[in-house]
Amino acid sequence: MSNTQSPEHTGNFIEGRWREPESGRLRPNLDPADPARIIGEFAESGAADAELAVDAARRAFPAWRAMGSVRRGEILSAAARLLTERAETISAAITAENGKRLDEARGEVRRAAAILEFTAGEGRRLGGQTLPSEEPNTMAFTWRRPIGAVGLITPWNFPLAIPLWKLAPALLSGCTAVLKPSPLTPLTAALLVEVFAEAGVPEGAVNLVQGDRPVGEALVADPRIAGISFTGSLPVGVAIQQACASRLVRTQLELGGKNAVLVLADADLDAATRAIVHGAFGQSGQRCSATSRVIVDRAVREELLERLLPAVAGMRIGPGTDPGSDIGPVIDESAQRRLLDAVERAKAEGATVAVGGKPVELPGYYVAPTVLTDLAPDAEIATEEIFGPVLSVVDCSGYEEAMRISNSVRYGMSGTVFTRDYGLAMRALDEFEAGMLHVNRPGVGAQAHHPHMGAKLSQYGAPECAQQVWDFYTEWRSACVSF
Ligand code: NAD
Repeated sequence: MSNTQSPEHTGNFIEGRWREPESGRLRPNLDPADPARIIGEFAESGAADAELAVDAARRAFPAWRAMGSVRRGEILSAAARLLTERAETISAAITAENGKRLDEARGEVRRAAAILEFTAGEGRRLGGQTLPSEEPNTMAFTWRRPIGAVGLITPWNFPLAIPLWKLAPALLSGCTAVLKPSPLTPLTAALLVEVFAEAGVPEGAVNLVQGDRPVGEALVADPRIAGISFTGSLPVGVAIQQACASRLVRTQLELGGKNAVLVLADADLDAATRAIVHGAFGQSGQRCSATSRVIVDRAVREELLERLLPAVAGMRIGPGTDPGSDIGPVIDESAQRRLLDAVERAKAEGATVAVGGKPVELPGYYVAPTVLTDLAPDAEIATEEIFGPVLSVVDCSGYEEAMRISNSVRYGMSGTVFTRDYGLAMRALDEFEAGMLHVNRPGVGAQAHHPHMGAKLSQYGAPECAQQVWDFYTEWRSACVSF
């Protein structure tokens, strides 16, 4: 593709039309399962493009706010229908640029449509309260008002669901938005924005600027942006928080994880094995809620490993488009390198590579699903986010030690316990320092109407999705009316 090509899908979407980036620069987007295959070339935008998009979002705000949430909800319902109609095209785009299995991509589209439907319905519920008044003949009440134009900065691991679970509530609440997706998954973002535009979201209410850090930094620095919702890594989230603090601009930060599955002595080991394999290696381990630690009671360690290791060793590695693949590639070459280096450092620290730990003889960015054992609870690989198909197994004796190890990391996205003792399970739910908790089921798999959030350094600000999200996109008003 060259710069003379139509910017549709490959350019930015600003004020209702596709346009080339001001720089004229494009960047190739590769298939991680076959990096020789270029999916397309997409805008490599800069601060000037971000500025144009914020101009458009600011201009569109008054009319979009005035439309009211019921009508905005109807437009989101239309978007849900369009998304469902285009499910196959969008799933194929997700697999092509992210690498996840096609069935995982289809699941992401279904979830995105469910989030849209849930959010659309909220257009008829987004209310406030009536309050008693201290004064006679006075009515008092509260309501929500959208905060303005918002910047949405997203990662590549759920290239549809995460942009959508920010855009849908932003739009429903009456905010206008500038989306800056990951430069590694621009096509899915372009297809999503097209859905909103065709569903009837007016010009300028939804804008897309493709590119990397310069676009994100320009959005964060723009004084006309009323809030930044960010999903990504901890260091970038901290930098955004610092930049926004000086102007008291609100932020919503969804960050990393180092999630544990606790396997207690009385656990159903077959169920635990299935859940661990799904949680650790689904989507090649590239989920903020992915299982990356198993904390297992020594009483059942050998029995668990007898089940877990063959299950992992038997996984079929291959492209996401092949229905026979159990696990696809990781996102890019730097992720592949980073993961293999982390395994080497763990070995140097004394870890045993029980399964995997090596690249795969295929053209894509593959890392064999890996299980490490004989790890100290505070080993680097057992405490820092890995974001790939590498699972650390740490041994413990009893519930108290398991929970102490689980809570010893700085992240707190999800927590899972396997036990037949429901009293202990309830205690674990109370003691996990993590946001999304599970008992006797996989540690991944959120539902469209459930809040998405972590604790500690995994999250800052209002949760995403569900009812809680309105506290980010709206601010309260109260009024007293005397009669
Ligand atoms: P990343 O932090 O590298 O990038 C995220 C986004 O920020 C991208 O769009 C990137 O272009 C942009 N960006 C980079 N530097 C910036 C800056 N200085 N200012 C503004 N924007 C900037 O993360 P990633 O590699 O795309 O995604 C992986 C990370 O995302 C992991 O840490 C994972 O745990 C996290 N994640 C969290 C959740 C959650 O809900 N908590 C969900 C998915 C992924």
